[in-house]
Amino acid sequence: MPELSKRTETFTDSVIRRMTRISNKYGAVNLSQGFPDFEPPRELLERLAEVTGEDFHQYSITWGAQNFREALAEKQSRLMGVDIDPNENVVVTCGSTEAMMAAMMTVANPGDKVIVFSPFYENYGADTILSGAEPIYVPLYPPEFNFDPNELEAAFRQKPKALILCNPSNPCGKVFTCDELKIIADLAEKYDAFVITDEVYEHIIYAPHKHTYFASLPNMWERTISCSSLSKTYSITGWRLGYIIAPPHIIDVAKKVHDFLTVGAAAPLQEAAVTGLRFGDDYYRQLAEKYTEKRDLFLKGLDDIGISHTTPQGAYYVLLDISEFGFDSDLDFCEKLAEKVGVGAVPGSSFFRENVNHLIRLHFAKRNDTLSEALNRLSEINILKK
Ligand code: GLN
Repeated sequence: MPELSKRTETFTDSVIRRMTRISNKYGAVNLSQGFPDFEPPRELLERLAEVTGEDFHQYSITWGAQNFREALAEKQSRLMGVDIDPNENVVVTCGSTEAMMAAMMTVANPGDKVIVFSPFYENYGADTILSGAEPIYVPLYPPEFNFDPNELEAAFRQKPKALILCNPSNPCGKVFTCDELKIIADLAEKYDAFVITDEVYEHIIYAPHKHTYFASLPNMWERTISCSSLSKTYSITGWRLGYIIAPPHIIDVAKKVHDFLTVGAAAPLQEAAVTGLRFGDDYYRQLAEKYTEKRDLFLKGLDDIGISHTTPQGAYYVLLDISEFGFDSDLDFCEKLAEKVGVGAVPGSSFFRENVNHLIRLHFAKRNDTLSEALNRLSEINILKK
């Protein structure tokens, strides 16, 4: 048999999604892959039911249904403070996973370098490899997960084509401050690089932290490729609706990449999701409040059990320190946690470039009773101590 492609040899399947399968195998409360177990807003489901009887069953325009792009452009213009044209500045994709991949393929040639902060969401590793780019990793230092501006500039001196910015950040929960974003912006300008953002947690922010859209910073619109999705904002991760927002000369190329990758996102789901995109600002405030309550409930539970953990400023993940359990491998720890304690988690090593084996990631995008059940089970976590 001929050999399979070399480019697929250097990465594994997704550890996050593997942990969902392991959780299912042991009947664990799955706090690994980040998705909610509560319903999306009722209005979206009602509209989805109506849409099945309407004329939305064939391809939409490849870069997104007109109605969807118009609603999205209106919402994002309002929030980002930039004038977004639905016809010139938007490509609708199959989740932000495709948006990020298409963005990478839009900017990077084989051999180009791309800056990635570590820890990072595991898709970025595979995205760079699949697009032929080479990652330059820049560490974020706990507990605040700050970067060292000198280290960042040293990375920029290697002439990267782009920097990937996940803000709010998965897995560390960091919300980049305006000052930090300004440092990145100045370097992107000085060294003439693009910035590809992943802002899927843009509405899951804990006070007093505030989300700043990178594209809204002075001079940054021209070089920013903003990627995001509806998955987290409307609790519809299975609908696979994401998008890229960028200036026309970038969008024209992203449209071509997207067209040949997937043709388009599901037409009936785009139509149903318009209902959500048209929600007023109250919806986003309530979403942040709901997640603040979940974060507080979950972190208090972890404190009561006595496990040391990070305090997220945004997104819905928490990193737990498992040093005291005496495991060499966080992967083994997570397998045992699912099997013996009944809670699914993601080994931290799948997010870090550095050799980090003492952290695991849990998420709290779950109903309060699911979180209570998980905490109840986690109260037995000391049985794993060696
Ligand atoms: N972003 C979510 C996580 O980090 C879900 C990832 C996925 O499977 N697409 O868990």
